Amino acid sequence: MNDLSEVLYTSDELARRVGEVAAQIDADYEGREVLLVGVLNGAVMVMSDLQRAMKSHVQMDWMAVSSYGSGTQSSGVVRILKDLSMDLEGRHVIVVEDIIDTGLTLSYLMSNLASRKPASLEIMTMFRKPEAARMDVAVKYVGFEIPSQFVVGYGLDYAGRYRNLRDLGILAPHIYA
Ligand code: 5GP
Ligand code: MG
Ligand code: MG
Repeated sequence: MNDLSEVLYTSDELARRVGEVAAQIDADYEGREVLLVGVLNGAVMVMSDLQRAMKSHVQMDWMAVSSYGSGTQSSGVVRILKDLSMDLEGRHVIVVEDIIDTGLTLSYLMSNLASRKPASLEIMTMFRKPEAARMDVAVKYVGFEIPSQFVVGYGLDYAGRYRNLRDLGILAPHIYA
C-alpha cells in the first residue's frame, strides 16, 4: 500500500517489541493474574498480540470512550460508550492503549478506573508521542516512543481506515488532500 510516506516499524519489529513487553509483564506480575483492559478500537491489535505473547494467566475486558469537546481539541472529559463487563475490585489491571498523544483522555479514564478499587492499576501503550511527557499519569510500559506525526496501522486509523496495516507508518500527505 503506497498510502504511507514512511514505515516507522515493520510488523516484525512490532512483534519483537510486544514480545519484550509481554516478558516484562510476566516477570513483574509473577504469581498474579492480570486483567488487560483494552480501549477500543485502536488497542485491538496490541491487545491480541500482547496476550498471546504472555506466558502467565491473563484475562481481558474492553471499554469504548469518546472525548467530549469541540473539534480536534480534547477536553479531557470522557464519555463512556461501552463500559467494562468485569468488576475491577481486587484485580491487577493493566490498561492497554494504542497510542498516547496528550494523555488527556487516559488521565480521566485512570481516575475513573482507580475509583473501582483494583488491587493495582498500570498502563501499557504501544506508542507514545513527546507531548505525553506532560501527563500527570505514570505509564509503566511503552512499546515505542515516536515523533509527533500522524501515524496509522497496527490498529491506528485515519477516518476509520488503515487499522489493518501490519506496519506502523506515517500517512502520505496526498491522502489528506
Ligand atoms: P490523547 O488523548 O492522548 O491526546 O489522544 C489519544 C487518542 O488520539 C488515541 O487513542 C488515538 O485514537 C488518537 N491519536 C493520537 N495520535 C494519533 C496518531 O498519530 N494516529 C492516529 N491514528 N491516532 C492518533
Ligand atoms: Mg487509544
Ligand atoms: Mg482514531
